[in-house]
Amino acid sequence: MPPSNQPKLDTSTEVSDEIRKTTCYMCACRCGINVHLKNGKVKYIEGNRDHPVNKGVLCAKGSAGIMQHYSPARLNAPMKRVGERGSGEFEEITWDEAFDIAAGWLAPIRENTPEKLAFFTGRDQSQSLTSWWAQAFGTPNYAAHGGFCSVNMAAAGIYTMGGAFWEFGTPDWERTKLFMIFGVAEDHDSNPIKMGMGRLKERGAKIIGVNPVRSGYNAVADEWVGITPGTDGLFILALVHELLEAGKVDLNYLSRYTNAPFLVNGDTSSPEFGLFLRGDDGKPQVLDRATGKPVAFDKKGIKADMAGSLRAAGITHRPVFQLLAEKYLTDAYTPEAVADRCGIAVKDIKRIAAELAHVAFEQEITIDQPWTDWKGERHASMTGRPVSFHAMRGISAHSNGFQTCRALHILQILLGSVEVPGGFRFKPPYPKPIEAHPRPHAGFNTGKALNGPHLGFVRGPEDLLLKDDGAPVRIDKAFTWENPMSSHGLMHMVISNAHAGDPYKIDTLFLYMANMSWNSSMNTTKVMDMLTDREDDGEYVIPHIIYSDSYSSEMVAYADLILPDTTYLERHDCMSLLDRPICEADALADSIRWPVVDPVRPGHEGVRGFQSALIQLGAKLGLPGMVNADGTATYADYADYIVNHQRRPGVGPLAGFRGKDGQGKGRGEPNPNQIQAYIDNGGFWIDHIPDDALYYKPWNAAYQDWAVKRGIFDVPQPYLFQLYVEPLRKFQLAAEGHGDIQPPDRLRDQIKAGMDPLPIWYAPFEEDVIDTAEFPLHALTQRPAAMYHSWGSQNAWLRQIHGTNPLFVPGKVFEEHGFSDGDWAWLISRHGRIKVPVARMDALNAKTVWTWNAIGKRKGAWALDEKAPEANKGYLLNHLISELLPPKADGMRWSNADPVTGQAAWFDLRVKIEKAERTDGTALPVTPAQQSPVGKGPKNVIYGQEF
Ligand code: SF4
Repeated sequence: MPPSNQPKLDTSTEVSDEIRKTTCYMCACRCGINVHLKNGKVKYIEGNRDHPVNKGVLCAKGSAGIMQHYSPARLNAPMKRVGERGSGEFEEITWDEAFDIAAGWLAPIRENTPEKLAFFTGRDQSQSLTSWWAQAFGTPNYAAHGGFCSVNMAAAGIYTMGGAFWEFGTPDWERTKLFMIFGVAEDHDSNPIKMGMGRLKERGAKIIGVNPVRSGYNAVADEWVGITPGTDGLFILALVHELLEAGKVDLNYLSRYTNAPFLVNGDTSSPEFGLFLRGDDGKPQVLDRATGKPVAFDKKGIKADMAGSLRAAGITHRPVFQLLAEKYLTDAYTPEAVADRCGIAVKDIKRIAAELAHVAFEQEITIDQPWTDWKGERHASMTGRPVSFHAMRGISAHSNGFQTCRALHILQILLGSVEVPGGFRFKPPYPKPIEAHPRPHAGFNTGKALNGPHLGFVRGPEDLLLKDDGAPVRIDKAFTWENPMSSHGLMHMVISNAHAGDPYKIDTLFLYMANMSWNSSMNTTKVMDMLTDREDDGEYVIPHIIYSDSYSSEMVAYADLILPDTTYLERHDCMSLLDRPICEADALADSIRWPVVDPVRPGHEGVRGFQSALIQLGAKLGLPGMVNADGTATYADYADYIVNHQRRPGVGPLAGFRGKDGQGKGRGEPNPNQIQAYIDNGGFWIDHIPDDALYYKPWNAAYQDWAVKRGIFDVPQPYLFQLYVEPLRKFQLAAEGHGDIQPPDRLRDQIKAGMDPLPIWYAPFEEDVIDTAEFPLHALTQRPAAMYHSWGSQNAWLRQIHGTNPLFVPGKVFEEHGFSDGDWAWLISRHGRIKVPVARMDALNAKTVWTWNAIGKRKGAWALDEKAPEANKGYLLNHLISELLPPKADGMRWSNADPVTGQAAWFDLRVKIEKAERTDGTALPVTPAQQSPVGKGPKNVIYGQEF
């Protein structure tokens, strides 16, 4: 008992008078948050302890959401440009006027030349809506930002095993004993990875970080492998070599669950060379170990032989596994052959391979859970190999990224560590075989909807989107011979292609949430020129630009019409199974955002969630699905769409609380009270997978049946992992001269070399076009944990953490150039030069320099003071990177991208560094200031003050 003369202190005062539960959007993790309100104003944000994603954990970014909401950089009203494009001079208008202007541009396009609308979206989480809208409009030119983000990771994963990392799946954190993480920036998959790594450390599991930079996750890893950029694929294939040589691969898993036993045509003169031997029913054939005869791969009761071969009709057919083993057992992939190039010692490569093998095969896990496989065979237990992996953009944003990502999946599969206890596990609706994905579509007709979804997965040359004369159908040249498997499109090529009129000019560029005139484009200065360039008659080369953003970003100044978006606390959103849900490996789950505060901007017209604005614009244009027979709007706004739209009968954007009684799971008619049910449940819905369906999902009959019940599939879709990707081989065959659909001669060698059906490694393309002795250093950017892309720099709390971004230089290079911390350096690439401040860092690959991404800001943007450090000392590496490679011998310039998917090769960049004289503290180049349409933020941000 405290003495009675002590004052009574309330150490836990009520901070709020109301708590509203919604979903964080300070990064892409979608954690659950409790927003505390006092007198209707946001007072405090905490993590939602019941939420499946974060279980109450909130990161620093998440708690700083309050300053994101009250940011002085928020847009306030629709605006039309009144000054020169790029100047930032705007006039506020009403929403009615904004829709009139937009419809005035878009309606004639739709009636005459729908392809002249290019609609591309950045980091939004509503692609199932935006793609549906674009299909209804009828333009073939739609994609989100995957082409300049991580399409290599996604496409390689889906083609190989029906899903990739991050939103597709997760390590089995409770059982993994060895975890390897490759090239992951800390702002993506933030809380889940941190929480998972925390669990590993609690349990004493080992973490190996593979990354040129030892920051973030790599700083807390038990072992850091400071690999040289662009060589991850070589390192991984050396691990594969070691495992094969030691016989440490899971043959039972390979023969049951992968295409390792599939027979491959070995006749080099055959038009089917390299394709699978198929039966009359089209099914791939394997050798039956009991009879030695070829049988369909899915025949019940057979055991497939991976050691034999089949001679039939004069042709020898051999199992995939033999081709794979031969390929990686060659001297090209020995640790000795790759060590110098990778910057990893031979002994370390051998030791890591041995550790992987030891944990996978000597520390096997068994769960006493019977299950039945897709062929009806009953298994008494679930066996797992407790090794798991995670990777992201670091390994994929290279010109060899697709094959590198494939190599990593092959390593996982050879170890038998995917979809097993302790390994890597998929989150529903994944895994999903390629057959469950659409092919790409681009069939358009004036005034009509497109003939199908824009983005998809090609199965062979017949799925390319080419005109009769071989010209690309799409403005970004996706799904062409230059990058056949560009499943996410190539947003980074849209502006330069549209400016060049290659393959054609457009009329309207419609962008959402993508800072294309600044940190989201390669060759930033030139992109700004392209956006403002005029034809001889004085018209802009890109005649109309519509842009939607929540904040006064650099891109706002380049638009003719601004549709102002809300902050994430003012909007409806839907983390949908049709798109990017919040599922866990054990559960189906989705969630919402809802306006926990009203989207009001006193004295201004106000803002609307972009998705609502898009639906309302669609109704004004009379787009199919958005208007009723009497011409009235089908949906009032996004919330109405979320509840009432059905993609298939009974299947809509939200899977939970469906049906009239709100009891439907995955399937059920629309429930008018659905959003309230989500709100009452904390903003999310979750449904646990039955115990006998928790692992082996692609081959588990109970999982497949449950997935059909929940509306993930309409029929069971069991499938095998694809060590050997036959569609890749079909493109190679065409390049070798087979088939009616032929590539241009200039691309034959690239296709033959790059589209190998088994993963390969080749040097990043940049090394082919520069003198590596002249540009000896690799240069990288990565996003910090405290920021999310460019969003954080107007956040009064977060910008105190990262107001500037020094160039981190490895110790030896630092000393060779006589640098001291705070000195300035010229960083020079084949494309440009920038002057930047330097700092020493020893936990860094010896041939690599790096900096934080998107800290540098243009003067006038983000409501920052012109003296702000971000606008003076901050800088972008983007000025050094070209979207094109230098001309080849034939004069053609190829894109600076992966030749399989078209993913932007940001991390291929090579540079040299020179000491520069000290300056007034301004990084170069300086981009002239733009006028701020929202004014300037106050010197000190004071809570409660309206901006
Ligand atoms: S990890 Fe991302 S979603 Fe989660 S609290 Fe942090 S910023 Fe928000």
